[in-house]
Amino acid sequence: MENLNYYLKQARDGHYAIGHFNFATEDVLRGIVEAIMVGTSEGEANFVGIKEAVALVGAIREDFNYPIFLNADHYKSFEKCKEAVDAGYDSVIIDASKMSNEENITLTKQVVDYCRSVNPNISVEGELGYLRGSSEVQTKIEISSADYSKPEEVVDFVSRTGVDRMAIVFGNIHGIVTEQEEKLDIEHFSKIVSVLETKGTFLAAKVPFVSLVLHGASGLKDEDISASIRAGITNVHFNTELRVAYRNEIDKQFHDHPNETTPYKYLGPAVDEVKRLVAAKIYLFMGK
Ligand SMILES: [Zn+2]
Repeated sequence: MENLNYYLKQARDGHYAIGHFNFATEDVLRGIVEAIMVGTSEGEANFVGIKEAVALVGAIREDFNYPIFLNADHYKSFEKCKEAVDAGYDSVIIDASKMSNEENITLTKQVVDYCRSVNPNISVEGELGYLRGSSEVQTKIEISSADYSKPEEVVDFVSRTGVDRMAIVFGNIHGIVTEQEEKLDIEHFSKIVSVLETKGTFLAAKVPFVSLVLHGASGLKDEDISASIRAGITNVHFNTELRVAYRNEIDKQFHDHPNETTPYKYLGPAVDEVKRLVAAKIYLFMGK
């Protein structure tokens, strides 16, 4: 199996994106197994178990002989990232975006250095800009261009930390909002891509390629996601809509079969819903 950065580079060359889907239970993981990248937030990892998550993904990789990568999604401290890496995660996101730029760079660099010392195949993502929201359904969230990742700061961040991937903020939020339209600022994102590319000569020595990541794809229109991929996004994070589909189907099963107590009989249809949604999103990310 090649490493994650290899597949991200393939995606960039082929103008498509790799999906990232979250799971907190084994059945949902099975439902999204066609995805190449799965992740657990700190909360999800606490629920499923950090070693258990690694073992589950390892078993699927073996069963299907399929490249699938496990990502520690938005881990906030060096200790939590180290815990995931030591347990066998393939990838981490050190999310220090709430700190000052200098503190963010220092902590991210510390995580990059640790990962490189353990295994150079581990892919590391940093985050810059203020990505609002959380992976749930909310009514309204203030979206301001002041929160966006700034092109020059992204270049500085990438060159000083040596990350493989960058989470970019350009109108995206985590979760779904019910009372406003979610819209990406593709023009702003394109500025980041072009600054990264024009400064590429000094990056080349240290960072030949950095993957740009879209978080919070739930609630975005398909055409917005496609436009961001055409502009250079190679990895798309998708969580809240999966949670909603899973939960709604369980709700429906309980309603339709109030006496059912066999877990796989009411969970099975919920997993089918997750599969259906993941398949649709993968087609979208592949540009089909
Ligand atoms: Zn995210």
